[in-house]
Amino acid sequence: MATFPYKDDNGEWHVEASHVNTVQISYRCPFCWSSYKQNGEPSANAKSTVHHHGSCGEVHNRVEHRGSHCDKEKGAINIHITDKTIKDARLRKENGDVINE
Ligand SMILES: [Zn+2]
Repeated sequence: MATFPYKDDNGEWHVEASHVNTVQISYRCPFCWSSYKQNGEPSANAKSTVHHHGSCGEVHNRVEHRGSHCDKEKGAINIHITDKTIKDARLRKENGDVINE
């Protein structure tokens, strides 16, 4: 089993989706945070940002190759929907999550 996140031989990042529903795939970004200190490092109580991508109405396990929405790490991202990904037919927002469309 791969440990996420990892960078492949082509320089693309792979992450594991935290949630998927019939509207969107959500993953916790390894690169950006809810708040930063003045020196640019994440604040002590910062939470990792959650990014969303469209799920095409499908919740089964797969890898989605997408253009990143991330401000910190632009380029392609591979989002793995696995047995650990919470699958839900409804929209979901965890307490404290930063929603960054
Ligand atoms: Zn990000």
